[in-house]
Amino acid sequence: SESSAAMTSSMSSEAPAASSSSAAPAAGGVGKIGVILPDSKSSARWETADRPALSEAFKAAGVEFDIQNAQGDKAAMATIADQMINSGVTVLMIVNLDNESGAAIEKKAAEAGVKTIDYDRLTLGGVADYYVSFDNVKVGELQGQGLAGCLGAGDKNIVYLNGSPTDSNATSFSKGAHSVLDPMTNYKVLDEQAVPDWDNQQAATIFEQMFTAQGGKIDGVLAANDGLGNATISVLKKNGLNGKVFVTGQDATVEGLQNILVGDQCMTVYKAIKKVAAAASGLAIALATGKEGTTNGKVMDTVSNREVPSVLETPQIITKDNVKDVVDDGYVKAADLCIEA
Ligand code: BGC
Repeated sequence: SESSAAMTSSMSSEAPAASSSSAAPAAGGVGKIGVILPDSKSSARWETADRPALSEAFKAAGVEFDIQNAQGDKAAMATIADQMINSGVTVLMIVNLDNESGAAIEKKAAEAGVKTIDYDRLTLGGVADYYVSFDNVKVGELQGQGLAGCLGAGDKNIVYLNGSPTDSNATSFSKGAHSVLDPMTNYKVLDEQAVPDWDNQQAATIFEQMFTAQGGKIDGVLAANDGLGNATISVLKKNGLNGKVFVTGQDATVEGLQNILVGDQCMTVYKAIKKVAAAASGLAIALATGKEGTTNGKVMDTVSNREVPSVLETPQIITKDNVKDVVDDGYVKAADLCIEA
């Protein structure tokens, strides 16, 4: 299948076979749309959900496109962007690897007359024409509500494992979670740390150190996504505490949903990627044809002090009780969730 091919192929810019381009003729005046995904390790979503959803949206709209993955390498992302600009893309969509490198790409594109869209991550200090994402503060609120639901009443110790300090979304997730959990004074925050580049291995190391420092007396972990949650669970397993310490997540990855089904993870956040993909495709076409795109809000870029016209979709909380919703929405296949004994 298309998604499994995308999962196994390497996405470097030297591997043109890995970039999907449609053969469909360009819809009037749209030209080619370029997309650069950030990596395939910080979350399974980029290759298993975003790439296929974007391809589908562009194909449905009949526009030509090129989707590549920078594999966590900022220099590679800049090179791919240059190549896309030189190849004549009319719109460039990026998921930045940090604000500085993202802003540099957007400014270069703008100088070349190429419109830009921030996809999923807002580039602070950037010049993107639009931002398409989920309500990321809401994502954090759902994580906080989910954790509280698992922890229940009584005095509990919690720790935070936040996303990358260079990802503006990570700030929003943490903000949302704190807004829910801070007023619950029976929960004591023992520690809070950010995980560089959302690196899952570093997350395990950081959590192990927290766990040791607290003498194992942790009741709940606000892990910012399923990868960080799984890293936490791996440490808990070594200590025989998986399922006893509550762990959150995000992205409704196969791994995260399986962790929920076996009782090791408290919740995840489902983000219907097909919705943002369709919105991004629509905005790209509007930009390329000089039309006004459809947005549903504005998000403040606090660095350039500018309001970016945005489309923000609504995230959904997933616990053991409603994993089926993710399957019913066609995001994962029930068979993929089957757990080997
Ligand atoms: C995305 C999350 C993802 C994380 C790591 C964030 O910016 O919003 O869905 O889990 O990056 O890739």
